[in-house]
Amino acid sequence: MSDEDGLDAIIIGAGITGLALATRLAAEGLSVRVLEARDRVGGRLLSVASNDAHPLDLGASWFWADEARVHELVARLGVRVHPQHTAGDALFQTTAGVQRLHGNPIDAPAMRLQDGAQSLALALAAPLGSTIRLDAPVEAVTVVDTTDGRRVDVRHRDGTLRARCVVIALPPALAVARIRFDPPLPTDIAALAARTPVWMGAITKAVAEYDDPFWRELGLAGAAVSHTGPLRELHDLSGPAGRPAALFGFAAPGDGPISPAAVLAQLVELFGERARTPRALHLHDWRREEWTSPADVEQHTDYATYGDPRWRSAMHERLWLASTETGRDHPGHIEGALAAAEHVGDALCSFIRAAP
Ligand SMILES: Cc1cc2nc3c(=O)[nH]c(=O)nc-3n(C[C@H](O)[C@H](O)[C@H](O)COP(=O)(O)OP(=O)(O)OC[C@H]3O[C@@H](n4cnc5c(N)ncnc54)[C@H](O)[C@@H]3O)c2cc1C
Repeated sequence: MSDEDGLDAIIIGAGITGLALATRLAAEGLSVRVLEARDRVGGRLLSVASNDAHPLDLGASWFWADEARVHELVARLGVRVHPQHTAGDALFQTTAGVQRLHGNPIDAPAMRLQDGAQSLALALAAPLGSTIRLDAPVEAVTVVDTTDGRRVDVRHRDGTLRARCVVIALPPALAVARIRFDPPLPTDIAALAARTPVWMGAITKAVAEYDDPFWRELGLAGAAVSHTGPLRELHDLSGPAGRPAALFGFAAPGDGPISPAAVLAQLVELFGERARTPRALHLHDWRREEWTSPADVEQHTDYATYGDPRWRSAMHERLWLASTETGRDHPGHIEGALAAAEHVGDALCSFIRAAP
């Protein structure tokens, strides 16, 4: 079937939700296209090159023991994982100075993806090939009644595609801020979407890469909680066997832009003089990512919207919103995105099988 004849499904967004869903629908034999605004797949899974074979994560980095869908996906794709480094003492920073804790009560045991979290998205995207179209931001979604039945037209930057069903696989608040829907989305869903926070969308993540994990030689875990900032929470981001060596931290939402100089001063106060000269320092402000966060992202604070049962109903019979925020289990996490893909996959396949 060519695109012009109409597809079974169009998925807007090649984050982990959209990619997992596209994989499922393609396996069910449905014709599907994924339209992605950025020039890369992965969305909030973003890994950048380091001085070592293993990249560094500027977005998500961990998954946890109780996240069965992530474990199953990792095993199926054969991507390599390693445990988060937790050994050593943690630090606690206040205006009174830095206190060394006995042990590390800050880091929970977690797993990391050796080739960066984005490797999960890249591994899902590879077999989908030309099903995914990059650099294709979607601007409008129109549900059209024709004599042959209802269909959905999706207008992106370079053209329009037609399908029986559409899944809008991006944060709901971003979807209603950036995409024009005709007819408009049902009022209660549009209001729900508009107040749903984008998980980590208001966060700056700082990553400092070093030649060596020198803090480990000092018996430190690389973990810290700070009441002074600019980073409020810090962790070791090193790869397996400490290569590449890296620390990362989050600034609190609402703290405003942070400067490299302030981050380095804080790292020196916490970890000593050797922290002053990283070989690379990345400050990634997710508020500025136009394909992650709407302009008012910091105003969204109603986390009770996460996993709301209303996300599971179709809108105008043929549209679904799906992202980690809509996931029934672990919303916000990669696991939540996979849960969202699963429930929409079930609903969409049932609809297609039942529809004439
Ligand atoms: C700093 C940070 C740290 C995190 N840490 C963790 C962690 O340790 N563990 C964990 O489990 N989770 C973590 N998360 C959350 C995790 O990254 C998300 O749960 C997950 O990646 C969301 O996937 P998604 O597909 O639902 O959404 P997204 O990844 O946001 O994907 C949406 C996609 O839609 C695209 N798009 C947007 N608008 C349009 C448009 N108009 N047209 C076409 N395409 C569009 C985007 O470019 C993007 O590719 C973190 C997130 C961040 C930002």
